Amino acid sequence: MIKHVLVTNDFPPKVGGIQSYLFEIYSRLDPESYLVATTVHEDAAAFDRKFPGEVIRLKHRLLPVAGTRSDLLAVVSAFQADLVVYDPIWPIGALGARLGPPYGLIAHGAEVVLPAKLPGVAGSMRRSLSGARGVIAAGSYPMQAVRSLVPTVPTFEVAPGADLSRFVPTQSVEERDAIRKRFMGDSRLPMILFVSRLVPRKGADRVIEAARLLDQPVEVHIVGSGRDRARLERLAKRRGVNTIFHGALPDGDLEQVYRAADVFCFPARSRWLGLEQEGFGIVLVEAQASGARVVCTRTGGMADAVVGTSPVVLDEGSAAAVAGGISFQLKADPKLPAGERHLIIEKFDYGRLSLQYGEAILKLAKQ
Ligand code: GDP
Repeated sequence: MIKHVLVTNDFPPKVGGIQSYLFEIYSRLDPESYLVATTVHEDAAAFDRKFPGEVIRLKHRLLPVAGTRSDLLAVVSAFQADLVVYDPIWPIGALGARLGPPYGLIAHGAEVVLPAKLPGVAGSMRRSLSGARGVIAAGSYPMQAVRSLVPTVPTFEVAPGADLSRFVPTQSVEERDAIRKRFMGDSRLPMILFVSRLVPRKGADRVIEAARLLDQPVEVHIVGSGRDRARLERLAKRRGVNTIFHGALPDGDLEQVYRAADVFCFPARSRWLGLEQEGFGIVLVEAQASGARVVCTRTGGMADAVVGTSPVVLDEGSAAAVAGGISFQLKADPKLPAGERHLIIEKFDYGRLSLQYGEAILKLAKQ
């Protein structure tokens, strides 16, 4: 059996895109085949007890410094690992070339594109990439970013997906009515949903601006927390757009609100001349898997996160373009085309993605 150690600071119970990717993949791998080396977290004990694989928590943040190096060397040799996998490429991935054992890297997007522009960092990233057996890229966007730094490094694409037993469409009109009542009371208006951290890149402001241009009344529902919330609330008020801010919803409620939505609208934008982009957009997968019609923009890796004929993918995210996309979806048959769920399962089921990931690990170990 090939054994590897995953080295990352971004492991649950910390929340976020990288964390959920690693959780969904690693909870499906053979627990004997890996060990996770990560950092401490106040809720870690309960999480680690339930997690199928062994998790070692070092008392400090993992950085490419001498202290982390000696701690990790002890962990890797005690486990008799054939391979070490670092996530993300920078800064922790810089340790790969210095630790000794063969290593691979995981790339997600922003963590490659942004630091690669910092003086000194691009060189360090190129060194890590050149010394690695290869890179597992979470989608075509990080894959291109990696190849633009080191064109010869072997890459294996394993995109993010969603837990498709959590995100499922409603099964009956009665079920849908009950869920809508919970979030919308007696309102019969279409629900336009946005879910994400509230930061400018994600584009919640564009949903509000677009709703104002529609030729029918709607209710905009915004789920998530973040530094942009007050600005968005002011915008909705100023524009007179009927907007409900839910804040961060707990898991369980999140699945429900997706199932209540008529249109899921995620018009993310590219910022800082393309340096800050949406690497993938897991929320698009979650929304589609829940049966919502999707409107999104084509920035970063977002086109990878949709399948089938029903999503509207916009080349530009002006309020008028987004409003056009929403109108189109509101006029469409509310039932998604037959077979769309099948396509979603084929592309985004973590059962299949974790098999791909396991194959990539074997290839990295045997390069
Ligand atoms: P990132 O935050 O930029 O990493 O964006 P991603 O799209 O990669 O990941 C966002 C993840 O966070 C998705 O799985 C969302 O469902 C989840 N998320 C965002 N906001 C909320 C929230 O309010 N509640 C819950 N339960 N999950 C959320």
